[in-house]
Amino acid sequence: MQTKILLEENEIPRHWYNVVADMPNPPAPPLGPDGNPVGPEALSAIFPQRVIEQEVATDRWIEIPEPVREAYALWRPAPLYRAHRLEAALGTPARIYYKYEGVSPAGSHKPNSAIAQAYYNKREGFTRLATETGAGQWGSSLAFAGEMFGLDVRVYMVKVSYEQKPFRRSMMQTWGAEVLPSPTDRTEAGRKALAEDPENPGSLGLAISEAVEDAAGREDTNYALGSVLNHVLLHQTVIGLEAKKQFDKVGDYPDMVFAPCGGGSNFGGAAFPFLADKASGKEVRLVAVEPTSCPTLTRGHYAYDFGDSQGLTPLTLMYTLGHDFMPPSIHAGGLRYHGDSALVSQLYNEGLLEAVAVPQVETFRAGVTFARAEGIIPAPETNHAIRACMDEALRCKESGEEKTLFFNLSGHGHFDMAAYDKYFSGALENYEYPAEAIDAALHRLPKVRGG
Ligand SMILES: *Cc1c(COP(=O)(O)O)cnc(C)c1O
Repeated sequence: MQTKILLEENEIPRHWYNVVADMPNPPAPPLGPDGNPVGPEALSAIFPQRVIEQEVATDRWIEIPEPVREAYALWRPAPLYRAHRLEAALGTPARIYYKYEGVSPAGSHKPNSAIAQAYYNKREGFTRLATETGAGQWGSSLAFAGEMFGLDVRVYMVKVSYEQKPFRRSMMQTWGAEVLPSPTDRTEAGRKALAEDPENPGSLGLAISEAVEDAAGREDTNYALGSVLNHVLLHQTVIGLEAKKQFDKVGDYPDMVFAPCGGGSNFGGAAFPFLADKASGKEVRLVAVEPTSCPTLTRGHYAYDFGDSQGLTPLTLMYTLGHDFMPPSIHAGGLRYHGDSALVSQLYNEGLLEAVAVPQVETFRAGVTFARAEGIIPAPETNHAIRACMDEALRCKESGEEKTLFFNLSGHGHFDMAAYDKYFSGALENYEYPAEAIDAALHRLPKVRGG
C-alpha cells in the first residue's frame, strides 16, 4: 500500500509544457487603449526579454535552464501522495491523490515561477526586482528566489497586511528583501494616495501600481508577477509534468484533476499537462475551484478588461467581475482576484476546462477533515480544491464508482492559523457574491472596438 510516490532528482522536468501549442484557437491578443493589439515589446520596460518571449511562445516544449533546475532541486520533485487515510475517513471507493507543493521553502507552488523569473532577470543583467504582495505568499516566494540568484528585491506590501500579518514580512526580511507598507512615499502613485488619505490602508491594485512604477523608472530594476500571465502558468507546469510521471509509476491516471483558482497559475500548472493527453483522446476532467465570494469563471463576464484596478495594464480577454471589483475579505487571499488567466479563460470558454465555486465555511470543514486524516494543514486557498475533490469522492460513495481523483495541494496553511481560529470559533461566514453586483460590473467594462 504505497502512500508517498517519489521521483529522483534527475527526474525534475527538463522542459516546461506550453499549452498554447495544443489550443484549438490561438490566444486572443491583449489590446492597448486605442483598441489595437499590443505587441510583446510593450512589456520590455518591466520584464526581461526571455520572459517576454515566453509570454507569446507557441512551441510545445520550452527548455528549463540548468540553474533553474538546480534551484528547483532544493525541494523538487514534490511528492505525490495517495490519500489512503482520507479515502477511509470518507468511506469512498474513489482513489484520491494529491501533489504537495507546500514542500517549497516559501510553502507554496509560487517559487516555481519566482525562481525562473529571478534567473532570467539575473542572466539579462538586472540587479533588482520590485513586486507587490497582499498576504505575502508571492512576496516571500520572490524574496527567496531573489536571494538564490543574488538580486535585490523590494516588496510593496498592502499596508493592512503589513500590519496584520507580520510573520510573512519577517520571512521576506529573512531572505534579504526590503518590505515597505503600501502606499509609500517612494512613488507617484503612493504619494498621490497618501495626499488624498494619509491613513490609506492600501490595496493590491495600488501596490501593483507602485511596483510597476518603481520598475519602469529604473534601468536596473524589473517587475515580477506571481500569477495570471502566460509565462507564470508555463513555469508552473512542472507540477502536472511531475504528477504524470508519478501516476505512471503506480500505473494509475486521474479521471478528474482539481486545483484552487485565483489568477490560474497553480491550476494551469497542474491541469495543462493533462490537457495535452485530452487532445490525444484521453478522458480527463479538469476542474478549477473558486470561492462563491469571487466567482470569476462560474459567474463572471467573458470580456476585455484591465488586469489591475487602476486601468493601467493592456486589456485582456478573460473572465472578469470588473476591474473595480471589491472582493469581500475572505481568508483565501490568493483567490480574490477580479479576473483570471487569459489561457485558462479561453480554454474554459471553449469547454475544455470546468469550474465550480464553493462557499468558505465548507472549504475549512474540508481542510480540517483532510488535516485530521492526512496530517498536512492546507492553505485556505487549497481548501477550495479539497472541498470540490471531497464532494466528488462522496458522490462516488453514493454511486459506487471507483474514480481516480487528483488535487493540487498548492500550499500549507502554517501562516493562516488565524483563519482556522476563526473557523473553530464559529466566526467565519459564507458569502455569495450578489447577482446585481455582477450585472453592474458589466456596464463598467471598458468599451472595446467591435466588442
Ligand atoms: C497564490 C496561491 C493560490 C492562488 O493563486 P493561483 O495563481 O491561482 O495559483 C493558491 N494556493 C496558494 C497556496 C497560493 O499561495
